[in-house]
Amino acid sequence: MRVRFAPSPTGFLHVGGLRTALYNYLLAKQHGGAFILRIEDTDRKRFVEAAEQDILDMMAWAGLAFDEGPGKGGSYGPYRQSERTERYHEVASLLVDAGKAYIAFDDDDALDAMRERHRTTENPTPRYDHSTRLEMLNGLTLSASEVQERLDRNEPHVIRLKVDPGHTIGFTDAVRGQVVFESETIDDQVLMKSDGLPTYHLANIVDDHDMCITHVIRGEEWLPSTPKHVLLYEAMGWEVPTMAHLPLIMSPTGGKLSKRNAEKQGIPVSVSSYVEQGFEPEALVNFLALLGWNPGDEQEMFSMEELTASFSLDRVGQSGVQFDMKKLLWFNEQWVRTRADADLADQLATEASERFGCTDRDYLVRAIGLMKERMVFARDLFSAPYLFQSPDSYDEAAVAKRWKAASAEHLLRFREYLASSGDWTVEALEETLKAYVEKEEVGMGAIMFPLRMALSGTGGGPSLYALMALIGKQETLDRIDTSLTALP
Ligand code: GLU
Repeated sequence: MRVRFAPSPTGFLHVGGLRTALYNYLLAKQHGGAFILRIEDTDRKRFVEAAEQDILDMMAWAGLAFDEGPGKGGSYGPYRQSERTERYHEVASLLVDAGKAYIAFDDDDALDAMRERHRTTENPTPRYDHSTRLEMLNGLTLSASEVQERLDRNEPHVIRLKVDPGHTIGFTDAVRGQVVFESETIDDQVLMKSDGLPTYHLANIVDDHDMCITHVIRGEEWLPSTPKHVLLYEAMGWEVPTMAHLPLIMSPTGGKLSKRNAEKQGIPVSVSSYVEQGFEPEALVNFLALLGWNPGDEQEMFSMEELTASFSLDRVGQSGVQFDMKKLLWFNEQWVRTRADADLADQLATEASERFGCTDRDYLVRAIGLMKERMVFARDLFSAPYLFQSPDSYDEAAVAKRWKAASAEHLLRFREYLASSGDWTVEALEETLKAYVEKEEVGMGAIMFPLRMALSGTGGGPSLYALMALIGKQETLDRIDTSLTALP
């Protein structure tokens, strides 16, 4: 099995593109095949300089290492289409010589005039096809010597595929089953543009053939292009690879997830935005794997290894799949929890030191251990500054609601219990608090809430025993003292 991801470097890598890359990668790994990255940069007008690097960076971030591609090499290179132009010319000439394609000299005015002549309400956008080609200036209407003269004069020209009417083009799609198109519906596609560069259609099939691609797995938006590709393969006498078109990714409010409607709903489209927001690569990969593929059971969490083992094209659905941001956040939360505290500490150390002057690694690891179950993103650690420093304010709404007349007194009295406690472990602190409520004959809440407020300034958070154990005895007592001067 040889599969490829073939992005056009027209902008930053899109999440939908990453899903396509992922599905290709998984199949290649599963079958011990090769995963190829090919840069389809024939559209010079839409070319974006930084895009290729972004594609490489984002694939590396997601863990999608390719076996052949730019910078990596391989036996079928080069892997950038702009470096393969000669071969496209060769194939285009073969097609012209075989009568499967023809040269056309029509300029924009001639094309507009043709459309003008044929425009009707039933046919609002007349095409350059079997019904109109004989009125145009091309190799079918000019003599061979006239064509040659024009070529000798360097007249701008294109090469078009000659699509004959009256037959059905069919292929079996690994996701959608049998797909058919009538050849009447297909125009005489431009294969080679007047700038001497191939169009997507030509370059794509030449490369898929020359790179021995066995399976073409891509988004559904390319389905209408496939009959043109099938015609080209047939014209060259080449075998058509297995085709698989992945379902569209839909916006939560319906319609295709376009850049505009996605961003309106707070869904970034470029993978780099997910990286910036602090998403775990495993979470995005896991989420995208299930955005179109269904494992057939209840399992939701999949590592790359598990995906490689379970993924299959026959469980990829045909209908569009909605992008559910809540689900992605859930995956992120789950994946953060699977990380070792020490590993998270490596990631967060610089920020902990810059923001809170925390350079004690052991302390940081313990703080992470305390917060991990409450994080959606790793950096949520810093939404609990009280792990590192005394609160500089107290949640006014919570105080107004839950701070009772007796709160300060409880805090003061409990402080004495703490001050005389020798053993400063989570278990011992829990015992101390139990002893307090028993002796004072009060409910847990009577002391828990004021204590939490004193230590963290907020009404919620991780276990108080664990928090006291983390910050230590002196800091606990100091925070209580500070709160007693600040709170009623
Ligand atoms: N260059 C096309 C893209 O940007 C590739 C489509 C295909 O995989 O054939 O998606």
